[in-house]
Amino acid sequence: MSGTKLYEGKAKILFTTDDPNILLSRYKDDATAFNALKKGTIANKGEMNCAIASHIFQYLETQGIATHFIKQISPNEMQVAAVKILAIEVVVRNIAAGSICKRLGIAQGQPLKHPLVEFFYKNDDLGDPLITDAHVAMLDLATPEEVAQLKQLALDINKHLQAFFDRCNLILVDFKVEIGVNASGKLLLADEISPDTCRLWDKTINDPKDRIMDKDRFRQDLGNIAEAYQEVMKRVLAT
Ligand code: UDP
Repeated sequence: MSGTKLYEGKAKILFTTDDPNILLSRYKDDATAFNALKKGTIANKGEMNCAIASHIFQYLETQGIATHFIKQISPNEMQVAAVKILAIEVVVRNIAAGSICKRLGIAQGQPLKHPLVEFFYKNDDLGDPLITDAHVAMLDLATPEEVAQLKQLALDINKHLQAFFDRCNLILVDFKVEIGVNASGKLLLADEISPDTCRLWDKTINDPKDRIMDKDRFRQDLGNIAEAYQEVMKRVLAT
């Protein structure tokens, strides 16, 4: 039984449960892009992303990454630990794509020498601007210790996800994570890991549009969006 709606985001709804330490996260079919300027739905996305995220959270747990995941309780719902989500979106990039190309004039598809960790301020009114450690401190978004931990955690998650997706014949171009702090002050990977939040390219396809297996198909109106998510789910669940 779900309780009160705590928060409705673009892709998920969070509900309270009878246990104050546990929340219910319900995945929706709604898709948005460009700070919600573009809106639509992707058939069955809620169930597909819930299945993908559940599988990946469990995989990351086996690799020693602490996550908010407790258990999947229906095709599009999971129980998660109640945490305080930091107002920072942490992006890790292995290959240049999306906003970094526009910002720094780097070619799409250019591999980066080292994985790059970026922080964005989670603030829709401001369009989630890129911020530095100094801004994190100034805005009191996290302590310096948490910032150091966040960067290491992001790189560790990247290492495990890169290896995992490689086994799925997918290249992990970049991804975004949100991190929560639990009652003991421990950082937990929260939110979701899915084709909504990762750029994934099919390793076996060279065409720069055909190889896209993630939300960029929606952002760029490339068609076959649900089919790409379905294929990612099939490979993830088999890995
Ligand atoms: N991303 C996300 N939510 C956001 C912004 C970005 O999940 O609000 C993901 C996006 O799917 C990509 C990565 O973070 O995998 C880097 O996104 P980027 O900064 O390039 O922004 P975009 O080009 O998507 O606007």
